[in-house]
Amino acid sequence: MTDKSIQELAVSVGLPVEKLLDQVRNAGLPQQKADDKISTEQQSTLVDHLKKIHGQGDGDAGKITLKRKTTSTAKVASTSGKAKTINVEVRKKHTFTKPNPEQMKAEALAKAETQTRTLADLKARETGDGKKTEQPENKAKATLDAMRAAQKKETAKVTQKAEVVVKRRSTNKTITKATVKTIETPEQKRIREAESAKLKATEEAARRKSAEEAQQRTLEQMRQMATKYSGDETAPVIRVVDDSPLAAGLVGQAYEDSFAKEDREIKRGTNTPSTRAPKKGGRRGQEEQSFSQNQHKRGLKTSQANKHGFEKPVKKQVYDVEIGETIVVADLAAKMAIKVREVIKSLMKMGELVTQNQAIEQSVAALVVEEMGHNPVLVSDTQAEDNLLEAAEEARGAQTTRPPVVTIMGHVDHGKTSLLDRIRRAKVAQGEAGGITQHIGAYHVETEKGIITFLDTPGHAAFTAMRSRGAKATDIVVLVVAADDGVMPQTAEAIDHARAAGTPIIVAINKMDKESADPDRVLNELTVKEIVPEQWGGDVPVAMVSAHSGQGIDELLDLISIQAELLELKASEEGAAQGVVIESRVDKDRGAVASILVQNGTLKVGDLVLAGGSYGRVRAITDENGQRIKSAGPSIPVEILGLPEAPMAGDEVLVVNDEKKAREVADARIAREREQRLERQSAMRLENIMASMGKKDVPYVNVVLKTDVRGTLEALTVALSALSTDEVRVRVIGSGVGAITESDVTLAESSEAVLLGFNVRADTTGRQKADADGMDIRYYSVIYELIDDVKAAMSGKLAPEHRETILGVAQVREVFHSSKFGAAAGCMVLEGMLHRNKPIRVLRDDVVVFQGELESLRRYKEVVDEVRAGMECGLAVKGYKDIKVLDKIEVYDVQLIKRSL
Ligand code: GDP
Repeated sequence: MTDKSIQELAVSVGLPVEKLLDQVRNAGLPQQKADDKISTEQQSTLVDHLKKIHGQGDGDAGKITLKRKTTSTAKVASTSGKAKTINVEVRKKHTFTKPNPEQMKAEALAKAETQTRTLADLKARETGDGKKTEQPENKAKATLDAMRAAQKKETAKVTQKAEVVVKRRSTNKTITKATVKTIETPEQKRIREAESAKLKATEEAARRKSAEEAQQRTLEQMRQMATKYSGDETAPVIRVVDDSPLAAGLVGQAYEDSFAKEDREIKRGTNTPSTRAPKKGGRRGQEEQSFSQNQHKRGLKTSQANKHGFEKPVKKQVYDVEIGETIVVADLAAKMAIKVREVIKSLMKMGELVTQNQAIEQSVAALVVEEMGHNPVLVSDTQAEDNLLEAAEEARGAQTTRPPVVTIMGHVDHGKTSLLDRIRRAKVAQGEAGGITQHIGAYHVETEKGIITFLDTPGHAAFTAMRSRGAKATDIVVLVVAADDGVMPQTAEAIDHARAAGTPIIVAINKMDKESADPDRVLNELTVKEIVPEQWGGDVPVAMVSAHSGQGIDELLDLISIQAELLELKASEEGAAQGVVIESRVDKDRGAVASILVQNGTLKVGDLVLAGGSYGRVRAITDENGQRIKSAGPSIPVEILGLPEAPMAGDEVLVVNDEKKAREVADARIAREREQRLERQSAMRLENIMASMGKKDVPYVNVVLKTDVRGTLEALTVALSALSTDEVRVRVIGSGVGAITESDVTLAESSEAVLLGFNVRADTTGRQKADADGMDIRYYSVIYELIDDVKAAMSGKLAPEHRETILGVAQVREVFHSSKFGAAAGCMVLEGMLHRNKPIRVLRDDVVVFQGELESLRRYKEVVDEVRAGMECGLAVKGYKDIKVLDKIEVYDVQLIKRSL
């Protein structure tokens, strides 16, 4: 105990401040207000006072305090009418008085004696009835009765312990039997007594033995139950809590009422472990019932059996449970040796709805572990790795300038490949490898201003794939825009990707040799995208080039070198190599071949290399020209042999000197990868981003937004950006007009953004990617609903959601005009089921062009209500005549889903 304010103390013992203040006043202490300090001594005084109230004085050494905590959730309506879930935690405490065998024996004896006396008196009065005077026979009989009773008493004394434990009411029985009906001679009496004593001795021995056995069995059963339910919060074995006496005292009083009931039940012997545990636990419930039945068969009172169980509390195995930054629910359960559903149950009580394959955060996992009575040990996932990196860093020598690594991005056909080829042809010395060059995903060129390394994996997928794996391989992005074509969707996308990664951009306006080239138009369009060229006062360098003629290539390389200088890229050639996987494949003859970009240190043949989740010794290093080399320094791309399996692009590569450490880190990475994947899958959902707002330090909600028309896009972007507050910012990190593509999904995934589609749908590949990554795409057709959802995401609250489910999609194969319906469409149902009476949308190139309902739905001539996937049908859309071949008809349903976080 330390000095605290009343407020703090109330929090630490879980009592309302008012209640605590009452208790403080009752204890005669001076504190009056919540922020008054209460000293250690005063806390002790309070404890003593409370102990007195609850009869928990020092003399109660035989008491055991059992504490039990249950958490549940209650749904209440808030002022706004929305349902709110509140976590309710009830802490119960019960004090069992440990049975004192001596005292029990004495009490039972005294009771037996009184009863014997009363019975003997009664008998005496009965026999002497009507005679009034005491006859000698009566006197003799009374003496005899007294003697018999005394003998019985002796017997009772011997059997007391077993009797009391096994059958409490047996004292009565014994006494009843002790009444004597016949009169015998002293001789008869002596013989009978001798025989009876012998018999009693034998009986006694047998009874004691069976009682002992029964006790033993009960104890054993208790022990088994304890083992079986170890970790189970509802288990009958209740931990003896040695919490601070103050807390126990205070909580004791606060929950007196709730215990009174339990006390009564315990006194009646009904509050057995089986009745306490949940009945509807399936198999668990049955097991408990059969346990209690068995006990009844043996004529044992469970409550008494309990006392024996508690006399020697069964020690529960307490584990030290290591928890990384995240942990998969199933793994957590395994670490505590309990069933997964117990963990899920416990999480549910905390208001977390998870499945066994979901990863939960360290802090949440720690709560569960504590709840289960184990010790959480928090570890950093990357501890082993960090140690390795640190060691590698320490071994590194002086840093020198390293060459920049450049990625070329841009719209398809704007000349990325041609440009890379041109640079390569111009700058890489011909004939080095007899003219044979091989594609290893990267190459470096030597210019007058120094070396430049190009990642030869054009396309945004490679760039984002690396980024989503946490690797930052690229220093500079060269954005290629065809002078005759201007900014195109993938140009915009490349800008989004580069921005999201925080990589500087250099623009190369290509195809300047063409007559139709219009660089000013391109620059204009780029400015709209907030890429303001240097010549226009911005900060983006622009080169006018032609991959065909070679015009401007040197200028471009110069710009790259200048940018690199500004970036002050540094690395050391000394020490263990560290780098990133650019590409990898499995070669039939050579095994796994990995292209690696060394980022720091020097990679040598024979090094033990750890790449992603696997490690192996480098057998050979090849440069981009297919030449065997012995070592490679920073920013140099090479191909290595020797890994047991092909690593993934973006995997980090590290040279280690100790195989044991390599294995340790590889295992940790595999586990982390799995957890991150699972976590990503759930984190990508809008609800979860909202849920995490309160917990994690998430300063912004990232949004990737696609709409049907530019006007809406601009309106929505402005509206969403305006939602930003000091605490939470909304960032539209990607936007565009048209269907949600694979690239949008990748961008959203790597930037932990939510994907919102307004009147557009994901195209096939986009949908496949979203499904594979477990990304949630939200479709809207009402602007304020979209804004409301994002707003809710920011405030961490979610209103009941009108969620659309797409029931079926059909594609228009043929259109014919009928005088009756206008345009009728011959369709093929692609997925799901078409329903005649549900709302529909007409999509053209995955953009909504009409919203309404069906006029008719037919199979052949017949009007039908539903048509399932794979079937053809004819339909007409009410009020829409402009239907075209290849349009899609989407049938959907709107459901109101109540959110609970
Ligand atoms: P990528 O899809 O961005 O890799 O583009 P490619 O490099 O494959 O080029 C697409 C087309 O544009 C090819 O037909 C090239 O010949 C042509 N092209 C590329 N660069 C130039 C250029 O500077 N001038 C002209 N006229 N055509 C070019």
